[in-house]
Amino acid sequence: MNNAEYVLPTMANWDDMVVVGRIARPHGLRGHVVVNPETDFVEERFRPGAHVWIRPADGERRLTIADARVQGGRPVIAFEGLDHVEDVEGMSGLELRIPEDALQPLEPGRYYEHQLVGCTVETMDGAPVGPVVRVEGGAGGSRLAVEGARGEILIPLAADICVDIDVVARRIRINPPEGLLELNEKLVMKFDIVTIFPRMVEAGLAEGVVGRGIERGVLDVEVHDLRDYTTDRHRSVDDVPYGGGPGMVMKPEPLARAVEDIKARRGAPGAVVLVSPQGRPFTQAEAVRLSRLSHIVLLCGRYEGVDERVRTAVATDELSIGDYVLSGGELAALVVVDAVSRLVPGVVGDARSVEEDSFARGLLDHPHYTRPPEFAGQKVPGVLLSGHHEEVRRWRKMTALRRTLDRRPELLTSAALDEEERAMLEEIRKEQEREP
Ligand code: SAM
Repeated sequence: MNNAEYVLPTMANWDDMVVVGRIARPHGLRGHVVVNPETDFVEERFRPGAHVWIRPADGERRLTIADARVQGGRPVIAFEGLDHVEDVEGMSGLELRIPEDALQPLEPGRYYEHQLVGCTVETMDGAPVGPVVRVEGGAGGSRLAVEGARGEILIPLAADICVDIDVVARRIRINPPEGLLELNEKLVMKFDIVTIFPRMVEAGLAEGVVGRGIERGVLDVEVHDLRDYTTDRHRSVDDVPYGGGPGMVMKPEPLARAVEDIKARRGAPGAVVLVSPQGRPFTQAEAVRLSRLSHIVLLCGRYEGVDERVRTAVATDELSIGDYVLSGGELAALVVVDAVSRLVPGVVGDARSVEEDSFARGLLDHPHYTRPPEFAGQKVPGVLLSGHHEEVRRWRKMTALRRTLDRRPELLTSAALDEEERAMLEEIRKEQEREP
């Protein structure tokens, strides 16, 4: 099949120019800078004699490349007339651009990302789907991220699906396989949380990743005040325990009524989860299972707990977030919503962060570092500053394995290790055997 492809990596519009790289930092004393390239054609783009445009605070200008070499996978270049480190100080972070018509021509059926982003996607019969907001993936497996009316839709950039790509008219006609658009619609995840403290739950939903998911319409969360489902004058949700003893027990009827009302108004949920310290442990695997459903109801207990018949007659699942007792189910419900939401496509901006999270493949995550390069007398491992992508990748895999082996060795028995990881693990084990 002749798949349509686009050329990695990303380019963006800046008037009529496209980004081909970004200055990372000065290098040496003679005006060289290290560049983070954003083009497939590094050697061609950053050869001596080539022109690039920059826009420092004092205005846009064209620079001619005087000297160029590739070091650690990144171009190290110098510009004509900028011969000293002082001339290029302050240029870190600046974009390097070229006019669109100076781009390398691509073979038919291949596109630069900036040509696709902003195009309107419609079906063959003219029904609008939405604008392309991003292109994901690599050559051969690229997908258009399209902002549909009910959330983001991922459309494979394949010739038999994107049948007519007109980058001049800024229009893409698609012939989606049956269910593709509906499948994506299902990815709008519904949560209903039933609680006697709605404000506490709402506060936990307002910020961060979940808050953004709600704002973008990928998550649809409703919080219900259990007292709205009571019938007595005092709006009571609890009663004394049969058989005596301390505390109060949550009555079954208001919870059952709340679930019935949710079903009637929002459709039948895939799961009705009672959060309880006695439930099945809530793990990443459980979060993955729940993320495949499109609608989850969470029931929050309080007091001594919930009448047993809620568990047997109303809930479909009982989940515990850990071996400790909270005063109520609100925090537990928020934990479940957060962990599940992260797995819903479009909630976390960059899907790679979720793929690399601890437990995603049964391993703990590798250590993370940011600036400054030295803190509390401790330096960032040199490999992370090297710019050598392959070595960074291997270091991350190694440290993730080492961490898991040290801290949670039991995870390794069920982790989905690839061949490289199995070999690395063997290497680490041998290393440890040699250590006294
Ligand atoms: N008497 C109950 C027991 O020992 O199992 C504990 C009740 S607790 C004080 C009140 C409510 O908090 C529970 O009904 C449940 O909804 C919630 N809760 C407490 N700890 C939890 C945990 N570890 N995981 C999930 N929910 C929890």
